[in-house]
Amino acid sequence: MSTGAGVDVSPDHYIGGMRVPSAERFSDRSPIDGTLLAEVARGGQREVDLAVRSAAAAFPEWAALGAAGRAPYLHRLADLIDANVERLATVECLDMAMLERSLRARVIGRGARNYRSYADLAAGYEERVWESNGTRNRVIRMPPGPAAVITPWNAPFMLSTWKTAPALAAGCTVILKPAEWSPLSCSLLVDLAGEAGLPAGVFNVVQGIGEEAGAALVSHPGVRRVSFTGSPETGRLIGTAAAGNLAPFTAELGGKGPLIVFEDADVEAAAKKAAGQYDDAGQVCLAGTRLLVAESIRDDFLERFHRHTDAHVLGDPRADDTTVSPLIHPDHLARVEGFVERAREHGDRIVRGGRRAELGGLYYEPTRSEPRGNDSEVVQREVFGPVLTLQTFASEDEAVELANSTAYGLSAIVYTGSSERAERVGRSVRAGTVWVNTFLVRDLTAPFGGMGISGIGREGGDYALDFYSDLKTLQIVEGSTA
Ligand code: NAD
Repeated sequence: MSTGAGVDVSPDHYIGGMRVPSAERFSDRSPIDGTLLAEVARGGQREVDLAVRSAAAAFPEWAALGAAGRAPYLHRLADLIDANVERLATVECLDMAMLERSLRARVIGRGARNYRSYADLAAGYEERVWESNGTRNRVIRMPPGPAAVITPWNAPFMLSTWKTAPALAAGCTVILKPAEWSPLSCSLLVDLAGEAGLPAGVFNVVQGIGEEAGAALVSHPGVRRVSFTGSPETGRLIGTAAAGNLAPFTAELGGKGPLIVFEDADVEAAAKKAAGQYDDAGQVCLAGTRLLVAESIRDDFLERFHRHTDAHVLGDPRADDTTVSPLIHPDHLARVEGFVERAREHGDRIVRGGRRAELGGLYYEPTRSEPRGNDSEVVQREVFGPVLTLQTFASEDEAVELANSTAYGLSAIVYTGSSERAERVGRSVRAGTVWVNTFLVRDLTAPFGGMGISGIGREGGDYALDFYSDLKTLQIVEGSTA
């Protein structure tokens, strides 16, 4: 099919190296203007069975190549991603409304870097070897079999590469189920995998609805790893299904990150970054959505924060001056509205925004609330929209206590001019990643994941490669039968 922008994308599954249709279809519309982009194949048990069989059939040969033998395939895929940035950015922007210029400039390219980095990292693995009790011990990575990968609708391309790159590099074959609200860029990705020469069945995509195709995939007994990114609610269901087959499971889940600004911080930089949390309409798991500001600098911070917020331009994510895009789906807009309405009823002060934008469509105004208390729902639950809360603190201890007062623990942002405080607070805040005086900068080899209800397990570097491997201990006593 051809999307509104004239880019060809198949709406069908990709199983065993071939396009496979389904009789049932679901409609995929652009959040930008509601244009129908595709009638996408709606997979179920039949398609999942087929895909797992294909992945199992392709597994022995792919595993036998070894990491060094698999690396050239993944490098070719990375090169093809780089050569297709325009096409991928166009489709991703139409399908989930991320700003097209960020997609072009960095997001799509990160997908290519994921395949390159993991190919090289896996190929460079040095088996741990040591002597003890007269025997030589070695730790070997063995690919376990087909891996199921389930991704969310925000940043679907980048997140799919982030998960499938270590899986493929470690020697798993893959069945990817993208989210039903943004299924198209993964369809292009798997075309590129075919073009890169990945053998049939190594990388499969089953399209469909979470409760149908997704549920069938994660409970399939032929799957030996389950990797999920999405909400904690779905994470619980998927973890339970994976446990039924004793398939190891990793989950990157939602966040409710604090953005803490101390009185010794560069307040201008902090206020600018705080207003930047509205980027992508706040549909970012790592966003610092709870602004925690030292009482003594509250007014100064707010004056600057509102100036930067005023500078935001809501609009079409394809336009160069847009900074805030529409929400993904009418159901999601209703969900965000529900949070704000309940906050009002609870007695929170909605200080800015708090309504749909005049632009119409799925646009929602950047919103700031001053919650009545720390138990307010918008403080305690992820909204996943352009809604920030502001609370103040009188001491460092109180800031840390507030930061750690939700069930989440994905990320935190801290602004301070003191390196001692950076170290202290960085260690005390309960989050998988803490950024001090910066945001979203990340080394791919560092561990990434959440604490509390923000996730189980770690991705990134060797942590991901270990997850997609069975670690074996091999002990050999040369020439002895004892
Ligand atoms: P979601 O949990 O609704 O869906 C995620 C995926 O799970 C989709 O592909 C969906 O089809 C599938 N799914 C739904 N029910 C299923 C089931 N019963 N069995 C198997 N699969 C099922 O999440 P979403 O709304 O797509 O994404 C937003 C959430 O993702 C937010 O909570 C956000 O914070 C989180 N997220 C986390 C990270 C991270 O790295 N921690 C990154 C991006 C998004």
